[in-house]
Amino acid sequence: MKSGGVLFFLAAALGAAGCGKDRESVPVEIPILMYHHVGEGRGVWWVSPTEFEEHLRQLKAGGYETVLPEEVVAAFEGKGKLPTRPVMVTFDDGYVSTREVAEPLLARYGFRGVVFLITDYVAETAEARRKWDGEPCLTWEEVRRMHQRGVLTFGGHGHTHANLAAHPNSAEEIERSFRQIRRKGGFRPVAFSYPHGAFGEETWKAVEKGGYRMAVVCEDRIARVAQRKDLFHLPRISIYGGIRNIEGGWVRNGEGQVMGWTMTFRGTGQPFRLVLRRVEGGEPLWESGRFRLKNGEQAEFLWGELEGASSGPLHLEIRDGSGLFLWGQTSTFNNLNQAKENRTTLWQGK
Ligand SMILES: [Zn+2]
Repeated sequence: MKSGGVLFFLAAALGAAGCGKDRESVPVEIPILMYHHVGEGRGVWWVSPTEFEEHLRQLKAGGYETVLPEEVVAAFEGKGKLPTRPVMVTFDDGYVSTREVAEPLLARYGFRGVVFLITDYVAETAEARRKWDGEPCLTWEEVRRMHQRGVLTFGGHGHTHANLAAHPNSAEEIERSFRQIRRKGGFRPVAFSYPHGAFGEETWKAVEKGGYRMAVVCEDRIARVAQRKDLFHLPRISIYGGIRNIEGGWVRNGEGQVMGWTMTFRGTGQPFRLVLRRVEGGEPLWESGRFRLKNGEQAEFLWGELEGASSGPLHLEIRDGSGLFLWGQTSTFNNLNQAKENRTTLWQGK
């Protein structure tokens, strides 16, 4: 299966990085990517090593250069310049896969990134290693060594991953994570990632008070820093992997005639094409062109105006962006009583 199309998300950012001018604060725009696991898992938060490397290859080919949180803060404060095409690569939760898989791949492409640690889950030694969400987390010794190697730096992700928007003592959760990284990691963390992406009115102030200089959320947009407050709600683009599937069904009118096709895609922003034919293998009656849906986004494709398309049979195919066949079905529409739209999982891939 092809990569998740990271460059698609970044296309909107091309040429968008504003920097330069020696004013006190400089508007900054930057895509920030959010990863969790890099490995062969099945959930949407797993991106396979092959896919991850493909993302890095695309970023390299697109002329992107990775930046770290301190560089974004400095650029906003007018104390430094971001590259023309900056991107920040982040990993939530502090899994061992950041050391075993992500770090060597990032190094191979000359990239850097930031890992957000749940400090209570960072054990002192390998023997005492803890797991978050069933997966092993880094130890302090590993954190120190990785920080020294310089490919990955670290930020806070709360002390216990508690939802800070609903926590009676969120300030303590935040401050504790900062103090632990400073004391046990031996450096001052710059960035914070809100656990569950959740924050309340007061949370960002607590993050700043707790020692951090910026914070990230999950909002699938390019981050834009126009004022100081923006530094504490920087949106990130979710990078999905794992299992993907398409749910879909024929769209029919009141008489049961097929007017089109509706589909929902779960997983990542992988490109697709739809092709409609009279018979399997026949000339296309209609083609969608290449399109992408965001995770969970629904799209409807109507071809009721097509000559003869509302009388069956019709053969619909789903192909991936490069034309590879994924799924096909012929509908005969001979029973008008079947007018109910049937939605089923059509295709599942990895
Ligand atoms: Zn998390």
